[in-house]
Amino acid sequence: MLSYFKDFIVNIFFIFSPLVFYPYIYRTKSRVPLYKFLLYILFSVALVITMSFPLNINGMVYDFRSIPIVLGALYGGLEVSILLFVTLITYRHLLGSPVNLLYSVASVPSFTMLAVSYKKFVNLKLYQKIAAAVILCTFFKLITNLIYYLLTHRIQFFFNSVITTIETYLLQGLIIGICVYLIEFLNKYFHMQEEVVKSEKMKIVSDMAASVAHEIRNPLTTVRGFIQLFGAQNLGEEKKLLYQRICLEELDRAQLIITDYLSLAKPDPEIIEKMSIKDEISYMSNVLLTYANYNHIEIKEILSENDALYIVGDRYKFRQALINIGKNAIEAMDSKGVLEIKAVKINHNVAIIITDTGVGMTSEQIKRLGTPYYSTKEKGTGLGTMVSFGIIKKMNGKIDIKSEVGKGTQYTLIFAEA
Ligand code: ADP
Ligand code: MG
Repeated sequence: MLSYFKDFIVNIFFIFSPLVFYPYIYRTKSRVPLYKFLLYILFSVALVITMSFPLNINGMVYDFRSIPIVLGALYGGLEVSILLFVTLITYRHLLGSPVNLLYSVASVPSFTMLAVSYKKFVNLKLYQKIAAAVILCTFFKLITNLIYYLLTHRIQFFFNSVITTIETYLLQGLIIGICVYLIEFLNKYFHMQEEVVKSEKMKIVSDMAASVAHEIRNPLTTVRGFIQLFGAQNLGEEKKLLYQRICLEELDRAQLIITDYLSLAKPDPEIIEKMSIKDEISYMSNVLLTYANYNHIEIKEILSENDALYIVGDRYKFRQALINIGKNAIEAMDSKGVLEIKAVKINHNVAIIITDTGVGMTSEQIKRLGTPYYSTKEKGTGLGTMVSFGIIKKMNGKIDIKSEVGKGTQYTLIFAEA
């Protein structure tokens, strides 16, 4: 076994290294065709590399092709299985291996076995998934080779160096087991992150519910008053029109508050697009306005002279990030505080500057920002800044925080201009 230990390590490296890209692929999970295509690319690269550098043990040639094929089929389903099958046969042909047609025929049953297993695999528990992958990988190699040797009348090959063959089976079982464990670990980690983002969003929505209800009461009270006035006799035509206009404006405002508030809670498909800073900042201040009014805070919105600034990112995530930061700013202030939201262009970047006149933070506190569960609030989750910073970093944005205890805090978010 030691004799081929070096080749073995090299092969493990080949199989594991494409997994480095798995986190990027995971992000496309909501766009299924792209996700499956990228999964195919990932495993086909591993397949081609492991076929290019096979292990040579006692004159017999082995490679770990079953591993990327089984992983691709189990995580990508039928489409990925078919593509990997085509890749396997094509690359085998390019390598100049003999009787390709017979090899294709020999591998059809194994591929069918994988395609059938995909649906069941998804719902298994971790240890069941590892066991299933190891078993399927073993059977994949066993069935393909057995049929292939039968078809090429070389069945005696199958019983050559039995010990080494068993060793390679054990090795590939070990490798695929570790691969499945790693993929599942990453999946679980990403899934947990998504859950945190979602729950934090719901927390914002529920924190702001009271202020939204409060804010809607005002227009309703106004409208009620005017409807009462309508009942008065001797009301001139001019007055009627004026009252009607005020009523409609108030109702529109209530409607806008509700729409903005509801869009906060909406589930968001990840769409990367060009966004107007002006629109996003006015959305942010609209949504925060009710919360600010409720806490007697004034919001000042300052846009740069040339307000046609654009950046690229996922609109709903970006909004969530801005609202988290704005909400913290409001919560840091007593009544009469001022929240200023400003956008300026600096070279080829756009800076969004959010300033509050709140309690401020010490440098120790600033350092802890963005770490989970750090909160100084009685009902805080300590997840808001972590989620915001995560979203901003994913957009390749920079965050700069200046703060003075008792005076206030300034967040500067810098993004590349689109
Ligand atoms: P939460 O708001 O639930 O406490 P966050 O992650 O949003 O959680 O914020 C973490 C902590 O950071 C807050 O509890 C607060 O102490 C501090 N903080 C965040 N933003 C500001 C700010 N603008 N001014 C003062 N303190 C802040
Ligand atoms: Mg917060």
